[in-house]
Amino acid sequence: MTSLPKIKGIYKRNFSLSKLTWFQTGGKAEILFIPKDLLDLQFFLKNIKNTSINIIGGGSNLLIRDGGIKGIVIKLGSGFDFVNLKKKYILCGASVKNINLSNKMTKRKIKGYEFLSTIPGTIGGSIFMNAGCFGREIKNLVKSVIVLDKKGNLIELDKNSINFKYRSSGINKNYFIVATKLKISKGNETNIRKIIKKFLNLRKKTQPNKVLTGGSTFINPKRKKAWKLIKDAGCENMFVGGAKISDKHCNFLVNTGSANSKDLETLGNKIRSKVFKKTGEKLDWEIKRIGVR
Ligand SMILES: Cc1cc2nc3c(=O)[nH]c(=O)nc-3n(C[C@H](O)[C@H](O)[C@H](O)COP(=O)(O)OP(=O)(O)OC[C@H]3O[C@@H](n4cnc5c(N)ncnc54)[C@H](O)[C@@H]3O)c2cc1C
Repeated sequence: MTSLPKIKGIYKRNFSLSKLTWFQTGGKAEILFIPKDLLDLQFFLKNIKNTSINIIGGGSNLLIRDGGIKGIVIKLGSGFDFVNLKKKYILCGASVKNINLSNKMTKRKIKGYEFLSTIPGTIGGSIFMNAGCFGREIKNLVKSVIVLDKKGNLIELDKNSINFKYRSSGINKNYFIVATKLKISKGNETNIRKIIKKFLNLRKKTQPNKVLTGGSTFINPKRKKAWKLIKDAGCENMFVGGAKISDKHCNFLVNTGSANSKDLETLGNKIRSKVFKKTGEKLDWEIKRIGVR
């Protein structure tokens, strides 16, 4: 590793990334970097040389492999946790939790953010993934996305220049999302609260909670449901080591407590093979898998 720039934030060496993911598995980051604020992150990027850099958000869509991540892992902290209501847009930092943004919008009687109450993770990760549920997607709330490139240049991407698709923003992997400008649409607080309640109830009925999971494992193929393909292929009772398929939703993998990332990834790949053999359908991972095996 080349020498590290003198920053105002924090470096943590050999940091166990299992503490930062919903699966609670995975190896260590050679260096975890928590920048103090935007200027600190810019300074770091302008001065770091020849080192691989990854960024993580809330770790709710991530499987970090057991060998960990070489180089730098950036985790945005409190310096990126702000929601400022402007006249024509909401300026929202990338480390704001989805649920916190949704709560703030509810109090301000701004509609459209209800579904974010039910999706774990941060706004940065959710924009990168184009997170969505119940027929809504974050792309419909975005006016622009503010990123830093690998050299620390600040760039504002207009929504129309972003190739949002189902569970993908197409945003360059060398960009670090630092903030976003979001739409304001006035609503009625009682209605907003009703919608949130409805969404939360729907989720409770159909998806596991209080388990170690990464949410939907595979993207739904066109006009098909991944969970149904998994069920029809007879995968429901499959397990590898401490990794199993959720009893409540078979597109969710669960760490029963003793799984490592290899168990989870192997189980996922076994499901893919079986589904392909039985149905001819290729499932693509929605969960991002990073790091060394
Ligand atoms: C119980 C459960 C339910 C879920 N339900 C849903 C659902 O209904 N709908 C849905 O869409 N998803 C769902 N998910 C998946 C996940 O919550 C979303 O994808 C979420 O938006 C990921 O945000 P995150 O901050 O946790 O990102 P992470 O998991 O930390 O990262 C995901 C990806 O985004 C990238 N990334 C993160 N932050 C940044 C940044 N600042 N700049 C650039 N790239 C970044 C990472 O490098 C990684 O590639 C669920 C997950 C769980 C555990």
